[in-house]
Amino acid sequence: MKLISYLHDGQTRVGVLDTRDSTVRPLAIESGDLISVIESWTPERAESLLDAGIVLALDDLTILAPIPKPRRNIFCVGKNYRAHAREFANSGFDESLSLGEEIPSHPIFFTKPASSVVGPGAPINPHTSLTSALDYEAEIAVIIGRGGMNIAAEDAWQHVWGYTLINDVTARDLQKQHKQWFLGKSLDTFCPMGPWAVTLDEFDQTGLTIECWVNGELRQNATTDDLIFDIPTLISTLSAGITLEAGDIIATGTPVGVGLGFDPPRFLAPGDVVSVRANGLGTLTNPIAETSRVNV
Ligand code: MG
Repeated sequence: MKLISYLHDGQTRVGVLDTRDSTVRPLAIESGDLISVIESWTPERAESLLDAGIVLALDDLTILAPIPKPRRNIFCVGKNYRAHAREFANSGFDESLSLGEEIPSHPIFFTKPASSVVGPGAPINPHTSLTSALDYEAEIAVIIGRGGMNIAAEDAWQHVWGYTLINDVTARDLQKQHKQWFLGKSLDTFCPMGPWAVTLDEFDQTGLTIECWVNGELRQNATTDDLIFDIPTLISTLSAGITLEAGDIIATGTPVGVGLGFDPPRFLAPGDVVSVRANGLGTLTNPIAETSRVNV
């Protein structure tokens, strides 16, 4: 099942998306909050919540991020694709990195604040007064269903509700200057998410590719075979001491082809359009705003 969040009469609503005919059937829930649906998820319950007889055209809706207001920060993983870890090392970004150390021995976690999330189509604020090294990172994100602590890798899939896409937008100069990655990845609008969320049972992970396009040019194009730490490993590592909760989002890292990896680097500029896509997860497109003053 594919779920979207959208605006209707100024309120956030959740609906079931049918990509075959681009229609949406609203769920009759008070909160308009996908997390509340995930918390007590069964496909049967979702069906029972459908607002009988109402079918909306996707094109008529303002689509939001599937989880527009996460309850806490988005968990993210740095350098989790082999070829990307190598391009990162070769860029000279991290001068402290020794030869042969480019592939991490343990997952590198950081977070992006919930306030950085925007939906499909929403402009990304280039924050031109703060950064001149704006970069994109196409990523597949996991949405946790059943929470838990100390989840074993072999049980991890029982805790996954579904997937979505995010663009882990990054100010490389802030990331470098401030050493810790949080600041450079956390500015307002730096976490485009969507366009929809798909439940685990409907998602085919075989041959999964993740792409990023900038102004129609393919920059990132990889399969998840290049992942260093798989999703069960990430869930088991995170949950070893942190209780995961329904609606938690884990961005699983970006593949090779980020702007920093080019020589010279190819960073984003106002007016550029960035699209992240993966099979089964749709295409998440966001423009870079022409000015830094955007209200989203
Ligand atoms: Mg990333």
